[in-house]
Amino acid sequence: MMNFNLIASVSDNFKIFRDDLYPFLGGGNKGRKMDAIAKDIFLKNANALVTTGGFQSNHCRAVAVFAAQYKLKCTLVLHGSKDEFEKQSGNAKIMRLSGSEIIFVEQSSQIGETMDKAMKQYKVQGFEPYYIWGGGHTYEGGLAYIDAVKELKDYGIENNWFPDYIFHASGTGSTQSGILAGLDKFGFDKTKVIGISVGRKSEQATQIVDDFYKKLCSHYHIRCLNRESIVLDDYLLGGYGQYNKDLEKLSLNSIKDYGFTLDTCYTGKAFYGMLDFIQKNNINTENILFWHTGGIFNFLAEE
Ligand SMILES: *Cc1c(COP(=O)(O)O)cnc(C)c1O
Repeated sequence: MMNFNLIASVSDNFKIFRDDLYPFLGGGNKGRKMDAIAKDIFLKNANALVTTGGFQSNHCRAVAVFAAQYKLKCTLVLHGSKDEFEKQSGNAKIMRLSGSEIIFVEQSSQIGETMDKAMKQYKVQGFEPYYIWGGGHTYEGGLAYIDAVKELKDYGIENNWFPDYIFHASGTGSTQSGILAGLDKFGFDKTKVIGISVGRKSEQATQIVDDFYKKLCSHYHIRCLNRESIVLDDYLLGGYGQYNKDLEKLSLNSIKDYGFTLDTCYTGKAFYGMLDFIQKNNINTENILFWHTGGIFNFLAEE
């Protein structure tokens, strides 16, 4: 395990959990999730992986890099046109060069059947395939974040600092559900988590986070404190991948202003939402943690 932590101090009451610098599989929350999923892959003696995502999927990139490192077969089912994919850099470039087989589907409705077919084909060829839900939205993916809260606790004890608020980008919800369950497990009684939705409406996103939080608690035998699951959709800016001039500016200035990247799809949106939320709710003297979930390759692929 790591004997350093990824928590960086911006000021006395503002810290960043630098999961963008998570050291394996290209980093980010998908690197962290994949490392946790890996334990289950080895446990099941699987030697071929099947998963799905978009052209700039951090999850597919982490899976493809993992497969290359451990010499496993890997099939990525991507939604969209091959020509478009070939033009893109960032995660698309890493996927292209990873040795994974890439299958393109025209309609998102074809993803499930295409993944099932890939699983079947591996079995016919004598492999032991392993199916990974898009985004690494699995129990193990959630466990990665339960365990990550332990790192936050170690930091807290060492530095006598505990967050009142944690802000982060929320997509499939497993990062947020894992953090919530982790806070229960490690005794963070008064910490609130504010997920900033990157695509879904609040009602649906909150429901998914809340259900999965409770499932994680029950699956991993954690006493659930029934914390409020909060996912804000005030900063969707039109939907997944959409942004406005202010967010674009925040993103382009992020290295200069903060010393880390904030992409427009995930972490920039969350940071933008956090700044607005802090101001509107007058909580700037509280202890704030921004959980930076990665997105460096998204940042690099943006024009
Ligand atoms: C996938 C992703 C998220 C969202 O994480 P979920 O666990 O799916 O909610 C946030 N930030 C980045 C950079 C991501 O790749």
